Amino acid sequence: DSAVCAPLPVLGRDVLVPLVTGGEVGYAALDIAASAPALQRVWDDVAAYAPYYGSVHRGAGYLSQLSTDLFENSRAEVARFLGVREGDQVVFTRSTTDSLNLLAAVLPADTRVFVFETEHHASLLPWEQRADAEVTYLDAPRTPEQAVDTLERALAEREPYRHALVCVTGASNVTGELWPVRELAAAAHAHGARIVLDAAQLAPHHPVDIAQLDVDWVAFSGHKLYAPFGAGVLAGRADWLQQAEPYLAGGGASRTVARRADGGVDVEWHTTAARHEAGSPNVIGAYAIAAACKALTEAGFENLVAREQHLVERVRAGLAEVPEVRVLSLFGDDAPRVGVLSFVVRGWNSSHFAAALSAEYGIGVRDGLFCAHPLVRTLLGAESQAPGECGAPEGAPGEKSLNAIRVSFGAGTPDEHVDRFVRAVKELVADGARWSYRTEDGRCVP
Ligand code: PMP
Repeated sequence: DSAVCAPLPVLGRDVLVPLVTGGEVGYAALDIAASAPALQRVWDDVAAYAPYYGSVHRGAGYLSQLSTDLFENSRAEVARFLGVREGDQVVFTRSTTDSLNLLAAVLPADTRVFVFETEHHASLLPWEQRADAEVTYLDAPRTPEQAVDTLERALAEREPYRHALVCVTGASNVTGELWPVRELAAAAHAHGARIVLDAAQLAPHHPVDIAQLDVDWVAFSGHKLYAPFGAGVLAGRADWLQQAEPYLAGGGASRTVARRADGGVDVEWHTTAARHEAGSPNVIGAYAIAAACKALTEAGFENLVAREQHLVERVRAGLAEVPEVRVLSLFGDDAPRVGVLSFVVRGWNSSHFAAALSAEYGIGVRDGLFCAHPLVRTLLGAESQAPGECGAPEGAPGEKSLNAIRVSFGAGTPDEHVDRFVRAVKELVADGARWSYRTEDGRCVP
């Protein structure tokens, strides 16, 4: 009487091929908030360049010159995409995580940092790496206005300070909700603080214009912006970046190195973005990001937003018909959001539910706490996941299980994928008994 779960079907090759351009059916990649399949256009651009790459900034040969041009043009394309101001720098990094760690590394001494507990760990944790920084964690707000109030009060309480930084997400990777970035930036600046925008989830869905939002820095990742892995961006004010020691020491970051009379070495570091890009850079990654920026700009964000909102409404309406489903939100069920929704299902362990979506319907979602543990804990709260009919979802009877399911979609997601997802949720909830099993000590795990 042990396992009555449906066996995992062996997936054929065809269903594993991510379908990035839309229209076709097969494997439904509904976890694009984690990593979005690269756009065909981006692959094509990279493939066209791939045979010609060489080392940048160094070689005298044709391929090196071509690559240097492509690398620096990629920087210019990203700068255009972000609407950077005169004097801003665009630094290529490995990812959003890397970008925010770079910013943490270049903070002036004794900077005060303000961050909501609702942030992804990539924007929550880097500041603790600086022993001299005092980090203030702000409670999760329940409205966008409360977010601004909370920040204003915290900034006012901590004054005076010489340097302060606010770090905030543009769109939550858990709820998909949009944060009032412009208002938070105005509050930060009114109190003499600076602000960095974690745009990892915003940039793939909305235009991010540094000057218009009036944020000091923006960080995002290529692999969430429909480009492949391995490259990210930190763009914004040059002063803190230029005044600090290089993030990595090495070639490319150094302008001149000379032995001193006392036997040591004197180093003059670059004051351009190269200061923080030591070593041979990820030219293909940078080029792919630029190709994605170009493709999204040409597609027109107004079209992407309209299409995505159509999908959001389909999912929202479908899930609303299932009383067992609770969609997680800070700002209310109808709050504006990008194509990212997390939810729990009464009587279900979220991991089992996600596994069932994959095994039975070929739908890839994510389950867990989404690298935003404090936020998910706050959202699930004491309620946690409701125990199943015959016991707790996990562990001993009565024990709480803290995790949720996240579905996310965007450019290239066909209607059929989200419709299949909604149908799957309804069917699994109606017939979930197949996915429960009895453990050796007699507990029933739904
Ligand atoms: N911030 C947010 C809001 C994210 O969703 C993520 C990725 N899940 C990150 C930062 C970190 O991005 P990366 O893993 O590419 O560094």
